[in-house]
Amino acid sequence: MSKPRPEDLLPGDRSWISGNEPCRRYPYLFIGPSPTKGDNRQQESSEERKRREARAKDLCWGECGVREQCLGYALDEGEKIGIWGGMTMSERNQLVSRRVRARQND
Ligand code: SF4
Repeated sequence: MSKPRPEDLLPGDRSWISGNEPCRRYPYLFIGPSPTKGDNRQQESSEERKRREARAKDLCWGECGVREQCLGYALDEGEKIGIWGGMTMSERNQLVSRRVRARQND
């Protein structure tokens, strides 16, 4: 029996993933330093984080063919970390808040 791929173990439909997306080639740009890995990249400054996130977002918007599906997945699943669909968690939260307010005003 083959080992399951990590994406197969996560909830939600991720069938839109081909494995060739930019985030697969440069995962660090999309997630950043891992607090559990114990490497010195934990020392990312605010400016370094902004630059890293900007590079990741440029790849999402400029080179990824599944950005909309990715963003929809992240919003549906409430992804809490990383860049998804060209947006940071903070930007996704703002988008959700705007949508909620728009629905309330309908
Ligand atoms: S839009 Fe999603 S799948 Fe595409 S590169 Fe960005 S994070 Fe990866």
